[in-house]
Amino acid sequence: MGKISSRDQGKKTDSPSPTRKSPFFWLAIFMIAGLFFLPSLFNTTPTGKEISWQQFKTNMLDRGAVEKLIVVNNERVTVFIKKEKINDPLFNKDLKKNFDKSFKEGPHYWFSIGSIESFEDKMEAAQKSLPESQRVEIAYERYSNTFPSIISLLIPFILLFILWRMLSGRMSNIGGGGPSIFNFGKSNARLIEKEETVVTFEDVAGLEEAEMEVKEIVEFLKSPEKFTKVGAKIPKGIILVGPPGTGKTLLAKAVAGEAQVPFFSISGSAFVEMFVGVGASRVRDLFKTAKERTPCIVFIDEIDAIGRSRGKGAYLSGSNDERESTLNQLLTEMDGFDTNSGVIVLAATNRADLLDPALLRPGRFDRHIYLELPNIREREEIFKVHMRNLLLDSDVDIKILASQTPGFSGADIANICNEAALITARGGKDKIGKTEFFEAIDRIVAGLEKKSKIISPQEKLIIAHHEAGHAVASWLLKHVDPLLKISIIPRGKSLGAAWYLPEEKSIRSQSAFTEHLCATLAGRAAEELIFGEVSSGALDDLEKVTKEAYTMVVYYGFSKKIGHVSFYDSTGLAQNGFMKPYSEETGKMIDEEVRLLISESYEKTKQLLLSHKAALIQVAELLLKNEIVYREDIEKVLGKREVLE
Ligand code: ATP
Repeated sequence: MGKISSRDQGKKTDSPSPTRKSPFFWLAIFMIAGLFFLPSLFNTTPTGKEISWQQFKTNMLDRGAVEKLIVVNNERVTVFIKKEKINDPLFNKDLKKNFDKSFKEGPHYWFSIGSIESFEDKMEAAQKSLPESQRVEIAYERYSNTFPSIISLLIPFILLFILWRMLSGRMSNIGGGGPSIFNFGKSNARLIEKEETVVTFEDVAGLEEAEMEVKEIVEFLKSPEKFTKVGAKIPKGIILVGPPGTGKTLLAKAVAGEAQVPFFSISGSAFVEMFVGVGASRVRDLFKTAKERTPCIVFIDEIDAIGRSRGKGAYLSGSNDERESTLNQLLTEMDGFDTNSGVIVLAATNRADLLDPALLRPGRFDRHIYLELPNIREREEIFKVHMRNLLLDSDVDIKILASQTPGFSGADIANICNEAALITARGGKDKIGKTEFFEAIDRIVAGLEKKSKIISPQEKLIIAHHEAGHAVASWLLKHVDPLLKISIIPRGKSLGAAWYLPEEKSIRSQSAFTEHLCATLAGRAAEELIFGEVSSGALDDLEKVTKEAYTMVVYYGFSKKIGHVSFYDSTGLAQNGFMKPYSEETGKMIDEEVRLLISESYEKTKQLLLSHKAALIQVAELLLKNEIVYREDIEKVLGKREVLE
């Protein structure tokens, strides 16, 4: 069954509000605006129109229209026209174009000079021929360019600085207050203050044994004297082990909530960076901060990211050294604080078998709490917790829901409740009923219905017989999980689906495995039986069958030829190894045995369906008519199913 898990529910988000701008944002705006205005503020370019020396001489100087000349910074000459001449059509057209006050007052024109000496020589020569009254005075002025040039030199640096600050700020937001350029070596643990810890044992359902174990920790955090008085030592570290979504984080939060202590939460992977030494320094920083806030709980999720057995995976993992030094630092820190100092480290992992033995020895994470997928009674309780705030219709039966969700984790159940509420709201109903819950379960198991998917009548025929094959075979095989319903409505990626009700068993017999292979192959067998050829529709089934057959031969020792041997490696050591734990010949034998197992199962299924061909066709016709066929309909066709005690 495909499952998804809703994770991190109720996690605190502390991203800044989108409307609040940081001071740096405004500073950046100010600086960018400054960039546009600065040139005009320090502008030493004279007002007026640029002209050439020749134009100046013939149109202005020779006509006696020049009032005065100012040489600026020995580079440019600005020309002021006499007031009475300004209305001259020659100048008037420029005046109209630049009809502002500064132009009226002058300077009206300007031109550049090569050097002051050549300008003075030219002026002397030009003025010689002019009458005394038309001769012009020359003044000199110098403006300092130092300030604007310093500013324009500084601007790129200032802008870069602002950009850097903004980027590093953004980085720390992404990590949820995590690493920034400034605090690489700082731990990026999220702190939930004791007033904010709202999760209590009330919110955790079906984990009674685990709850019992952690209650002692709550007691210690609340009144440590009770324990220290008699010389008892409280465990420093506790490892919560269990499949994803079974409530490890929830339980850790509940401990903090019950004990009313601060809760530092960090993921194991957050320690590891590509830079050497960062992980170790983050561990140091985390414990330093935690010790300042005692009593408190430090929760390290996915501890296997750093706590993996040293030396394992050394072939492939280049970052091994960094991970090892992070782990070493964690070990040192855990040794370094007093047993009764008030810092309790809770860690969670899905794979305790991969952890380094040094991490698990007494004095470190010496207490292990195993969380399993919930059983039917526990699922009922989890449903109750998540239904607390839902508006339920009277037809909702929690017992039935719990019985229809074997193999679901607490997170899946939380997801079902939310999905059912969403379906209800979408449908415009005001109470969540039984149908919405079933629809939510189906959606989570098999994906969203895709009624709009175009399927040709011939394809529909094949799909109906394929699904009918699964239904008939699983009805007749005693060891296969009971069938719930089959459907030919496309969902997610599949074109049809069969729902079973897995029974909660801890061990399965060899016949249960073999019959399961048969039931999975029944879709393809039915196609061959009815149409004389097989289709690509059995891809998913074949993948499952192949994996299962290899597991049977390689791990469970079900093959007579290979014998009672298992190549399963619970230590995880062989995971990254290049070598197979068996010889080339054994490998060949395994392949042969797997092929034989599958072909025998296929033949057996074909014979089974052949002897019930009429029933197979009848179920397929029912499917084509109704699109969904329930177990009651199949019972009518095939009679009551023989159940194993
Ligand atoms: P992972 O290993 O993937 O980190 P986890 O075991 O830490 O998963 P949690 O994050 O604790 O799982 O669980 C996710 C959500 O599932 C919880 O927030 C809660 O809503 C729900 N949940 C899981 N287990 C339980 C439970 N026993 N009782 C009530 N709710 C549960």
